[in-house]
Amino acid sequence: MLHLWRCSWGGGASRVRDLFSQAKEKAPCIIFIDEIDAIGRSRGKGAFLGGANDERESTLNQLLTEMDGFGTNTGVIVLAATNRADMLDPALVRPGRFDRHIYLELPNMSERAAIFKVHMRNLMVDEAINIQLLTAQTPGFSGADIANICNEAALIAARRKATKIEKTDFTDAIDRIVAGLEKKSKIISPEEKRIIAYHEAGHAVTSWLLKTVDTLVKVSIIPRGKSLGAAWYLPEEKQLRSKSAFREHLCATLGGRAAEEVIFGEISSGAIDDLEKVTKEAYAMVVYYGFNDKLGNVSYYDSTNQRDLSIQKPFSEATGELIDQEIRKLVGDAYLTAKTLLTENKILLEKVAESLLKNEVIYREDLEKILGHRTKEDKILNVL
Ligand code: ZN
Repeated sequence: MLHLWRCSWGGGASRVRDLFSQAKEKAPCIIFIDEIDAIGRSRGKGAFLGGANDERESTLNQLLTEMDGFGTNTGVIVLAATNRADMLDPALVRPGRFDRHIYLELPNMSERAAIFKVHMRNLMVDEAINIQLLTAQTPGFSGADIANICNEAALIAARRKATKIEKTDFTDAIDRIVAGLEKKSKIISPEEKRIIAYHEAGHAVTSWLLKTVDTLVKVSIIPRGKSLGAAWYLPEEKQLRSKSAFREHLCATLGGRAAEEVIFGEISSGAIDDLEKVTKEAYAMVVYYGFNDKLGNVSYYDSTNQRDLSIQKPFSEATGELIDQEIRKLVGDAYLTAKTLLTENKILLEKVAESLLKNEVIYREDLEKILGHRTKEDKILNVL
């Protein structure tokens, strides 16, 4: 028999100990910890957020200890859920602890249609209501938001003493909920959705055309966590990456912003994560990997980690300036390449973006239909 506890966290180290010893007795079983961020928040960060919390910290330490004491054959599986995976203490997600992560995403269009159907089941709904239309009006809505819409629409209909819920009740309900939710959650306007679609399509097209970039498996414009859209790559396991592979990666990462500029003539704040990645990568290329001609085969990487870089830089002021210049040039060139690629392949970009607007999530097969089969050759051998 499988036991399942659903324990919400009121805590204390002794409760954790107790929980785990009970679990071992009753194995096989699953321990499910909801809202793990309540105790699993990064210990360093906790100090800034309302002072260090000793009880929380000792609870967390106890949890870590208990999880380490687990063999793989104890028959106890520990699961946890959070909306703030970014806040978790790194120690919690190390191998042997919570080392497999499953993202539960917001529903896509067809999933939303199914959710609408579930919540409408017990409502007196006018037959003329078009569920497809409702789903098209609700990008970024969660299952709970949709339940809320159905409930609200029923209330509006009841208020006007109608016997059936009609289309206008739903549109009013959506308007009301959008207005209420706009600030706290990620409800997206149609214009924003267009920008996100083109941004993600920009990543998709550039990475498809650049041969060394990892294969794209999925592109989505459903908001998730902090990001409004996302592209998933299938990373290849290789130990070495050539200089041109780095350059192409920069280019594909800038493909989102480049697409916005090519299509709308205007760029948005949506590229912040991309720019952060690009800046770090360009820095590594110049400062660590010796990929820059002007600096030569020099690496300021410190594998001993003994130098405090904030106090003492390992290079002169002049070299520092050169590094800045070269990073900017590298990023600038990559952006230009991305823009050129996308301008030359604007039709493909538009096709991918339209497909995203229509389906919200597209997969490798869909991309293949639009962009053609991808012949991926490993350039690394040519460079070596
Ligand atoms: Zn992006």
